[in-house]
Amino acid sequence: MSNIAFIGLGNMGGPMAVNLIKKGHDVVGFDLSEEALKILVSEGGQVAESAVAAAKDADVVISMLPSGKHVADLYSEEFINSLKPNTLLIDSSTIDAVTARTVAELAVSRGCRMIDAPVSGGTAGAKAGTLTFIVGGKQDDYEKARPILKCMGQNIFHAGESGAGQVAKICNNMLLAIHMIGTSEAINLGVKHGLNPQILSEIMQKSSGKNWSLDVYNPYPGVMENAPASRNYSGGFAVDLMTKDLGLAAEAGLETKTSTPLGNTALNLYRMWSESGNGKTDFSSIIQFLNRDL
Ligand code: NAD
Repeated sequence: MSNIAFIGLGNMGGPMAVNLIKKGHDVVGFDLSEEALKILVSEGGQVAESAVAAAKDADVVISMLPSGKHVADLYSEEFINSLKPNTLLIDSSTIDAVTARTVAELAVSRGCRMIDAPVSGGTAGAKAGTLTFIVGGKQDDYEKARPILKCMGQNIFHAGESGAGQVAKICNNMLLAIHMIGTSEAINLGVKHGLNPQILSEIMQKSSGKNWSLDVYNPYPGVMENAPASRNYSGGFAVDLMTKDLGLAAEAGLETKTSTPLGNTALNLYRMWSESGNGKTDFSSIIQFLNRDL
């Protein structure tokens, strides 16, 4: 069993840390939110007063932070210099590949190991321990991390070298945004024509429109009891985080002169929805942008 420092105990990091505790690891957490720290303690974890204090004796550091800026700030020279030699650093935040590679290079230059390991599967997957991890980094670091990642996830992929996990993750999230918007459009159209959203969703789930948003994350309130749509779009994956990921995809498209017209449209829709005061709501609330009656 390992001593694990967990930095960022929000909607995703909180339940991920709890799954590590359940599998017998010693977890010391740090978050800026007192509430998040209280929850970790109630689940059998320990907390520290700073990221450095949480990580100084750790064998493994896991971070689950909002954006690349937070990740770059955490993995500062001061932080990395305070770690034990050979500490394995796992950043599971969704960030740009350039920042992921930059912090990994710094970590390696100071005698640590580092992988990017963003996740897919949402807050339900984080709670159930069924996340998909998409790893970028060296083969032996991937293998060292696998048993730890297995405590929090079901599918563990090695996408390639440092940063490759982040590239694969933003491709996935661009597709997720597109099919969430498409699913919202389709349900909305059917409902406006008098169809029952539940029955229409079941029909499309068994037809060629089937996709993840329909299967586990239906955006129409009341269709799926456990989906954020049925709790007023609270919890889940925030509109602002999806907007960030679509921005990362757009930047990645520019870098390589790749056309991503639907990704760019999705970015604009999510940006407008965020700017109208909905940044903190779950990303499936985009259906309300298309149907103001909801
Ligand atoms: P969140 O906002 O719920 O959690 C982030 C946590 O980080 C918060 O508790 C915040 O207080 C903490 N934090 C911020 N700065 C910190 C610092 N300097 N030190 C310590 N803690 C700090 O976000 P989330 O939904 O858990 O998402 C985290 C990451 O996971 C993001 O990169 C997101 O894109 C990605 N992600 C989210 C989902 C999802 O469904 N929510 C799914 C896949 C990936």
